[in-house]
Amino acid sequence: MHTFDMVVVGSGGGCDETNLSSYLIKPATAAWTDGIISLEGGSGQGALQQILQRNPKLLDCRKRYTASEIYSHVQCFLITHGHLDHVSSLVLSAGSLKGPRKRLYAAKDTLGDMETIFSDRIWPNLASWKESDDAYKYLYTPCVATPCSTASLLTLLQSGPSPKHKRVHTDVSVRSFRLNHGSNDSGAYESSAFSIRHDPTGREFLFFGDVEPDSLARHPRTLDVWRYAASKIPTTLSTIFIECSWPPAVPTSSCLATSAPSTWSTSSSRSPPKSSKLGERRVAPRTGASASQEEEEEPIEREDRAGALKGLRVYITHCKADFDAAHDRPIHEVIAGQVRQLVKDEGLGVEIIAAEQGMRIEI
Ligand SMILES: [Zn+2]
Repeated sequence: MHTFDMVVVGSGGGCDETNLSSYLIKPATAAWTDGIISLEGGSGQGALQQILQRNPKLLDCRKRYTASEIYSHVQCFLITHGHLDHVSSLVLSAGSLKGPRKRLYAAKDTLGDMETIFSDRIWPNLASWKESDDAYKYLYTPCVATPCSTASLLTLLQSGPSPKHKRVHTDVSVRSFRLNHGSNDSGAYESSAFSIRHDPTGREFLFFGDVEPDSLARHPRTLDVWRYAASKIPTTLSTIFIECSWPPAVPTSSCLATSAPSTWSTSSSRSPPKSSKLGERRVAPRTGASASQEEEEEPIEREDRAGALKGLRVYITHCKADFDAAHDRPIHEVIAGQVRQLVKDEGLGVEIIAAEQGMRIEI
């Protein structure tokens, strides 16, 4: 029995305006009309309308919904960061969305970025911080991330369910982790990962926003997420959505070899996790990191890793569209195929799937 239903409204990586990061979810035992969480808001009603024209029974085999009707039941958006490929539709549709006021859950700096858009300049101001501002379609709601240090992990293991999850919907809570996205002239730029938990069963899945490999980051953070997830895989946490924008031929920090798998393997050692404990991964020392952030690198035998991630399903997201037709297949299939080969070579046992617009996923 699965826990969540998901519909992929958009899974692309930014340059295709018809297919931007956007995923609708609900508890499996509830109806879509009971309330929906939108993970990101890159694509929205327009994309869903196109999807439902091609597949009218995608959401429900007995009832046909319109895109407008579905979005009227969205209760909140969870936003990993404020880049346009993750928020453009929720901005454009703010004045036309039906249904109740909707919360925008995100880190405070991301909500600050949204304020610069809803400023009566780039777009009319349709969001506010006040619960009583019913005239504003969106309600800014900070999602506070807390680091998962070794000490807090011990507390977590001793105390059971995390108190750091925040209830965002009936039976659904979210824990937020901050990620490195990269840096620009203003300094470091951050993104988020979410652990989304079905409270009655305690089952969770992980959803990553754009993420810079730990091997390139001054202060590694993705490891915190793996430390959190390690003991839960695959029984409590069996599904991960992670960004992998580029195939490895592209010489960029976001490339395949140092993106999704790199969160299990450093670019220098490519050492995947040991005994299904992602958090037990050995991290190569890196310039600029403090001693407290480093652990000694320790070789992990391939035989020890065999089947280490069996039962885990990883969806590859955010692949950059191949407008030059450099590949004979859709780019998400190319990249997922390359990741699949990588984990097959390592014998990890994890299932790799390309997230695709219009897909319905049971988690
Ligand atoms: Zn981004």
